[in-house]
Amino acid sequence: MKTVYIHENQLATAGELLANGRLVAFPTETVYGLGADACSDVAIKAIFEAKGRPSDNPLIVHVAGVDQVYPLVLDVTEATQRLMVRFWPGPITLIFPKSKRVSNLVTAGLDTVAIRIPSHPWANAVLKHAQIPVAAPSANRSGSPSATTWQAVQQDLDQRIDAIVCGPPTDIGLESTVVDAAGEQPRILRPGKITWEELVKVCPSIVPYSGHVDRGNELLNSPGLRHRHYQPRAQVTLVRGHLPAVHQEAWFIGLNKSSGTDSCSRCLYCDSVEDYSARLFDFFRQADDAGVKTIYCEEVDETGIGVALMDRLRRASQS
Ligand code: AMP
Ligand code: MG
Repeated sequence: MKTVYIHENQLATAGELLANGRLVAFPTETVYGLGADACSDVAIKAIFEAKGRPSDNPLIVHVAGVDQVYPLVLDVTEATQRLMVRFWPGPITLIFPKSKRVSNLVTAGLDTVAIRIPSHPWANAVLKHAQIPVAAPSANRSGSPSATTWQAVQQDLDQRIDAIVCGPPTDIGLESTVVDAAGEQPRILRPGKITWEELVKVCPSIVPYSGHVDRGNELLNSPGLRHRHYQPRAQVTLVRGHLPAVHQEAWFIGLNKSSGTDSCSRCLYCDSVEDYSARLFDFFRQADDAGVKTIYCEEVDETGIGVALMDRLRRASQS
């Protein structure tokens, strides 16, 4: 399959391709998404195939506006409504009981559907042109770090998908916060840029993200969490404080000169936890391109977006 490269003045073309059942990668404020018609079994099957994604890992449906949400869902709880009003459009995904319109392949057989309205102007333009709900997982091969640039999408998916929208690098660089407020007890299923500290102001009883380790029933509710994720080929080792020895074969990423070592062949010091989050996945890809064996990543405090960053770092470091 020949992949078409789409530029800013051709976003209508990207929308038309999606409406015609094609696979199109496009930028969002979190990471690049790989979109397809959420109501078409054929198109959704093609996403799983292009990514090599396990079929029990459900997809997030992206829409341009709230009016597109209602046909896809059976009910909107009061807590969910408050979250929609406060945080959409933005980097947060909400869980709803699904209607029949959504392909069962999108939800991996669950009776709930995950939906998001992105705030990125390019993503919004593409979705508006498409005029359909678009299922869009991260635009990377399954298990690899998410794509934060169109070049990363190209590296993973060229000739496997119909088109790539060549937008700017993504701002946030980590996937959306996923919140389930459809039941009695609202809870964070995946941490992201919208933090517990922000969510608790709107949803005082919300249960914080409970970590990456086995959480019994919760895994059943967010099946994607059980899969290998965010891993570069290099070994990722988490560090706090100075590194023990000289590591010429290794790279380092962390906060501004607060730790690390000049003995690594490359050190990337970030200005803030936000900056670290935005640069992490691209750093992983660059390290793999350079054939680096070990990537040392400085741990950060688990508050604010630090919870999301530490979640991704722990998953990346799992062998
Ligand atoms: P990705 O497409 O890589 O951003 O991953 C999507 C994430 O959303 C995965 O962690 C899924 O488990 C989660 N997800 C999608 N649909 C649902 C759902 N209906 N209920 C709970 N989690 C979901
Ligand atoms: Mg992903």
